[in-house]
Amino acid sequence: MGRLVFSSSGDLTRAPRGSRAGRGSFLVSWAGRAAESLFATLFPADCRLCGAPLLRISRLPVCDDCLDALHPIEGSVCAVCGERLLSPHVASDDCAEPRCGLCRRQGPPFLKAAAYGSYDGGLRELIHLLKYQQVRPAARVLGRMLAEVIAGLAPAFEEARPWLVPVPLHPSRLRQRGFNQSELIAQEALKFQPAIRGLELHAAVLQRTRQTESQIGLTRHQRRENIRGAFNLTHPGEVQGRDILLVDDVFTTGTTVSECARVLRRAGATRVWVATVARTIKTEATHAGPEFEARETQPTVAATFK
Ligand SMILES: [Zn+2]
Ligand SMILES: [Zn+2]
Repeated sequence: MGRLVFSSSGDLTRAPRGSRAGRGSFLVSWAGRAAESLFATLFPADCRLCGAPLLRISRLPVCDDCLDALHPIEGSVCAVCGERLLSPHVASDDCAEPRCGLCRRQGPPFLKAAAYGSYDGGLRELIHLLKYQQVRPAARVLGRMLAEVIAGLAPAFEEARPWLVPVPLHPSRLRQRGFNQSELIAQEALKFQPAIRGLELHAAVLQRTRQTESQIGLTRHQRRENIRGAFNLTHPGEVQGRDILLVDDVFTTGTTVSECARVLRRAGATRVWVATVARTIKTEATHAGPEFEARETQPTVAATFK
């Protein structure tokens, strides 16, 4: 199953031209692609999220109903970390902006983390299509969401134009996946919003030097220890006095972006914000437990794959 099965006929026009030496193999690959394209026309793929037949050929094998169902996080969220606030007394704190218990106790090393949607349902599946099934056209939809998040943060940038810095993958993970999903999504995001077009992507600012063990089942403190030292700067001097906007696909517990922000701040970065496509959010069920801890003892499976 190649991606051509659901891709548009645009791929045909990108076939290499000219070279006599490659002509035989070119014809074979052209014929192969033509056959696949015909196959896709006669037998359009099913939506990879809901299984409904796709009515038109698209590079992204997801139906319009599933795309329309993706929506932003609703309700009151923590002004710092973006966690959903369920109890009214948390929101009516004496400070102007509502903050969750954890952010009131100890502020994170970033100014604000914002996310588009909740990391569940269709949005979670769309992110998995990109990361684990290499369906790259999903990055465009996710990029549009990230662009909205960044545009929402933009008033706080004031005169500064922060560098967009994707959370890096470890080189072995990058080889395995073939791309860094956060970088791909950030590239797409920059194409959308005029308000953020002036921002520059700096993909090589951070590097991941250590693969971390699975975060599942670890306490908040253990997770922080687990990830400590996993990132460093490629050129330590370059972030001195700069504002940084960290971008990632998912904010699960915040441990990863907090560690990146800590490394950046220690190297002299002035302000650090975080923008992600999705975020795990508290549900009514987990809210019954002690604040934050209930959520944090149930990290999602995705945390393992980071
Ligand atoms: Zn669907
Ligand atoms: Zn918070």
